[in-house]
Amino acid sequence: MSSLAQKIQQLQAAFESDFKSSFDFSSRQALHKKYVKGILKELYAEIKIIKDPEEKRQAGLLINQFKNYLETHFSSSNIESAEQSPPPAVFFDPSVYKTQFTRGRSHPLVQFALSVEEIFINMGFSLVEGPEIEHEENNFEKLNIPLHHPARDMQDTFYIHGENKLLRSHTSNVQIRTMQKQPPPLKIISLGNVYRVDDIDAQHTPMFYQCEGLVVDKGITFSDLKGVLIEFITLLFGKETQLRFRPSYYPYTEPSAAVDMSCPVCKTQGCRTCKNAGWITILGSGMVHPNVFSGVGYNPKNYTGFAFGLGINRLAMIYYDMTEIRGFYENDVSLWTK
Ligand SMILES: [Zn+2]
Repeated sequence: MSSLAQKIQQLQAAFESDFKSSFDFSSRQALHKKYVKGILKELYAEIKIIKDPEEKRQAGLLINQFKNYLETHFSSSNIESAEQSPPPAVFFDPSVYKTQFTRGRSHPLVQFALSVEEIFINMGFSLVEGPEIEHEENNFEKLNIPLHHPARDMQDTFYIHGENKLLRSHTSNVQIRTMQKQPPPLKIISLGNVYRVDDIDAQHTPMFYQCEGLVVDKGITFSDLKGVLIEFITLLFGKETQLRFRPSYYPYTEPSAAVDMSCPVCKTQGCRTCKNAGWITILGSGMVHPNVFSGVGYNPKNYTGFAFGLGINRLAMIYYDMTEIRGFYENDVSLWTK
């Protein structure tokens, strides 16, 4: 091998490693200057001093090959044309390895909560918010749940040590806060996290998302309550969905009703989703207890109202046909790409 061929081989190897470690526009521009403007010109100058015509021809051939080799590299990174025009703001190299990207979006529980919110807002409800750390009084006493009422044991609440405060066990505290601030009429919903002492299993988590509604005005009746809830559920699950109102007991409403919906999967025939019952209990509701009104300064002789509360997680589980509530918090993205 001639000494020139050897030299070009070394230059080519050096260029290759330089090129691999240059990723941006300016470093490639510098490479172009070094090899095309510098080294290549010097090589062509060397031909001029070769006397033997055959040797001269061979040298020209080798240098031209090297020139072509350099050009193929620089044409892909557009250095040649960039010499005349200003460099682009971002260097774009189509040969760079590209991984697949997926677009982010809201958590499915948030998406579901937003559609619940939207339905009630379209029915004329206003959205109100309240604190998750609450005075004991707003969570219990004001809701007609006195100190020694068994409901306080039933609820198994997280108390804050040494203070008369707790993590709210329902969003009803927001109703109390709103009624204390605002005279009737009222038509509000509130969504947010609530806390109860529960072990984590397929159906329970110590924190979950709740939605609560309250309507207060003159002449509000149980029919209004039924109308609103039937409208809400059929908008969410379809017109064929049926609701069943069962007598129940809550300290803050009288009369009270637990509400079941026909299973959207089996249409009351019985399946895994409804545990073969055909119906699923989804919420608690009732006419606001007169004691609650008196406690916040509303006159129960002039005003009536209804309230309802539902677990967003439970309803979302039915909506997404999930078997485990834990799925909402385990960060398993594959669950949501099915
Ligand atoms: Zn079913």
